[in-house]
Formats: sequence, structure tokens, C-alpha cells
Amino acid sequence: MTITDFPTTASGVRDEVPDPLFPAASHPAEPASPGEQALAAARFQLAEASRFLGLDEGLHLMLATPRRSLTVSVPVRREDGRMEVVQGYRVQHNLSRGPAKGGIRFHPSTDLPEVTALAMWMTWKCALAGIPYGGAKGGVAVDPGALTTRELERVTRRYVNEILPLIGPEKDIPAPDVGTDEQTMAWIMDTYSANAGYSVPGVVTGKPMTLGGSLGRAGATSRGVQIAALQALSRSPEDATVAVQGFGKVGALAAQYLADAGCRVVAVSDATGAVVRRTGLDVAALRAHAAEAGSVYGYRDADALSHDELLEMDVDVLVPAALEGVITASNAPRVRARLIVEGANGPTTPEADRILTEAGVTVVPDILANAGGVIVSYLEWVQNMQAYSWSANEVEVKLRDLMTTAFQAVASLSEERDLTLRQAAHAIGVGRVAEAHQMRGLYP
Ligand code: NAD
Repeated sequence: MTITDFPTTASGVRDEVPDPLFPAASHPAEPASPGEQALAAARFQLAEASRFLGLDEGLHLMLATPRRSLTVSVPVRREDGRMEVVQGYRVQHNLSRGPAKGGIRFHPSTDLPEVTALAMWMTWKCALAGIPYGGAKGGVAVDPGALTTRELERVTRRYVNEILPLIGPEKDIPAPDVGTDEQTMAWIMDTYSANAGYSVPGVVTGKPMTLGGSLGRAGATSRGVQIAALQALSRSPEDATVAVQGFGKVGALAAQYLADAGCRVVAVSDATGAVVRRTGLDVAALRAHAAEAGSVYGYRDADALSHDELLEMDVDVLVPAALEGVITASNAPRVRARLIVEGANGPTTPEADRILTEAGVTVVPDILANAGGVIVSYLEWVQNMQAYSWSANEVEVKLRDLMTTAFQAVASLSEERDLTLRQAAHAIGVGRVAEAHQMRGLYP
């Protein structure tokens, strides 16, 4: 029997056996920093999956600790001549199934525990999606909005220079995340290529089309959110109302694609505020407003709303697409959506998850719901490695196929074994990685 045959004795994994390796992860008491909280949540989810799969303690320990973590100091010269130093990170959580893959985040509160948690989620996400990658994540503790474009370019290039020994098209392939975009990816590709002495498009994904980007990558995460939401929705899209938290790369297009599918998007928020219109927002007009004004704030055809109110709105579908740890034990009892589709990574704490499950709320977990981004990143990388490009339709068909296959595997296991969708998704992702470890054996 292999690990992913799933032991038949276990069903439902929400018991209270303490995690022997990380006791705090067994009782995630919402620890100090958001990053520590995210890491405790990731370890809690892993501990649940390990128990369900019957993994031994040694294998659990290997999966709970990152393969490599690099912390770098990034000196940056500001426009006025001052020099500042910011911290940067790259964590490769697991490499057992292929090169490491994961985005780079520019955000002031980014720290090593947060990047470690995000890298761990990437490992399970790639395994669940059936793509041949391990998991990684990177981050720099800067506020990109407070830097000029030239300062941002200098930060990016110096950070890449510091993590250069780790990355490469066959080793570790970054991508965009919060606060980074295709321009950032172009600078990464250029810095790496300048050091290599030739162009290496496959070192990074989410690139501009002109540098080997893939058709469909910009909207891929959001398209995946749409696919997952429509699969999980128990009513026709025309009868469903939606609220979206976060109006960046993932949230804005998730709102658009859900509206395109017939849903009524009634509220969205970004870091500056939230807007609501019960009869339905014109998402295209709102995107145009946000592109010009820099935020949804001030959009005329809607009323203002608070951040908290958006999460607690009476809607059918809630799409958190901003940061982690936003649905917690304190606001979960007031969440009225019946379906949560996690565009963001780690938006729901384990305690909130338990409250939502008990209240009958369906949560499509991050490692499934937002896997569209890494799936099309993989397709971009395959095109780069072949020096070839596919049509938008070819990319869309492959994305839809991989997303649907993953969704159905999770839904079936959840049904068969009385697991939440998150528990089932982790059981499959963790199981595939554990199996790869067992097949490869331990060197030396
Ligand atoms: P982004 O930087 O493009 O957008 C983030 C958005 O969140 C912005 O609109 C910002 O204003 C908003 N925001 C920040 N704090 C907020 C708050 N308190 N309330 C409401 N909105 C707030 O980032 P992104 O790439 O869209 O990533 C969003 C989430 O999706 C992250 O969790 C990221 O890890 C995850 N994700 C991104 C991708 C991708 O391809 N970009 C793929 C998978 C998962």
C-alpha cells in the first residue's frame, strides 16, 4: 500500500492529539506576529494530514521543516542619496518532486516565518495540482508603494543578486505575489541573465509577453478561483452574490471572471477601503477606476463599507484575495457567506476553520482555489524550456483540465472520508510529497 492509498482506519482528522514536534501547532492560539500565526497554521494543517496518512515522526519532521532558508540584507540607495538596509528571504521548503516554485512578495510585514509558511503551502499546492515542482517562497520587507520605480528596481536587482546561488530554471523559479508584478519579473530575469551571460527566460514566470511570458498567466490565479467557485457553488451563478476582499492581481480579475460567469459581485475592498452596491457592481468600471485612482476608494456608483463589514456580508460567496489571517476566531462566527473560496494564501486561521465547518460553511482551501497561478506558471516554464509558445486557448484548456482534476480528487476524498475540503486537499498534497520521499529514500 502506498501513502496516497490513504489508510482505511482513519476518517475525519479533527481530533485533539497534540503535535509531538510542534506543540503550538496542535493548539494554534493565534501567536504573536502574522507570520508566526501563518506558520503555526501551516504546521497545524500538516500535523492533521500526517496523522490521517499515518506518517512516521521522522517523515513528518522532514515535511515540517524547510529544506533551505536564506535571509539576506538588501542595501538600497534612495533617490536622496541615503542608504537603507531591508531584509529579504528565500525559503525552499521541499524539492522532492522537482525544482522549487513560488512567488516573491514585497510587503513591509514580510518575515521569515511568513515566507516559510507560504513556501510550505506551495509544496502541497504543486503536488495537489499534479505539476512537477517543490515549494518555495521569497519576500522582501519593503513597502513598494513608498519607493520610486528606480528604487524598486535597485531593491529587486540587489535581492536577486543575493539569492542568485539558489535560483535557476532547474533549481528554483520565482513568480509574482503581493506587491510584485511582471515588471519585477522582468528585472529578475534580466539580473539573472546578466550574471549567466545569456538570456534565461525560464528562471522566472509571470514575465511580460515580450520576454517569454505565457498567454493567460496574468489572469490565471483568478481564472482558477472562478473555476473552483463554480464547481463548489450549489446554485446557478445568476442566483449568487459575491464579495471579494483584495482588489489586486488576484481579486480584481476574480471579481471580473465571476461577474462574467453571471454572479452578482456586490462588494469589494482593497487596503484603503471597501465599496458596496447590493444591485451589483460594474466590475469593469470599478477596475478602470482603481487603475486610475490607485484604489477602489471613491468609486462613485457604490457606497462605502468598512473592511470588517465586507467579510461579514450576507452574500453567497466570499473570496478573500488579500493577505493571510483575516478570518479568525473572533470574526468567523459573524461570517454569513455559505461558500468561501480562498484566492489568498492562508486567509483563514485553523480556529476560524473549525468554527466555519461547524456552522456548515464550505471553504475551498487556498492550495486548491488559487492553484491556477502556479499551474499556468508551470505552463509558461514548459514553453520557455521548449523555446515554444502556445495559444491562449491551449493554455486555458490545460489550466481548466488540471484545476478540475484537482478539484474532483479533493471533493471525492472529502466525501468518502468525511473530511473538510482543506483536510482532503492537504491529505492528497502531503501524501504525494511523502510518497516521493519514500521512493527516493534518504541520502546518505
Ligand atoms: P496584490 O499585491 O496584487 O494585491 C493585494 C490586494 O490586497 C491589494 O488590492 C491590496 O490593496 C489588498 N489589501 C491589502 N490589505 C488589505 C486589507 N486589509 N483589506 C482588504 N484588502 C487589502 O497581490 P496578489 O498577487 O493579488 O495576491 C493576493 C493574495 O493571493 C496573496 O495571498 C497571494 O499570496 C495570493 N496568491 C497570488 C497569486 C498570484 O498569481 N499573484 C497566486 C496564488 C496566490
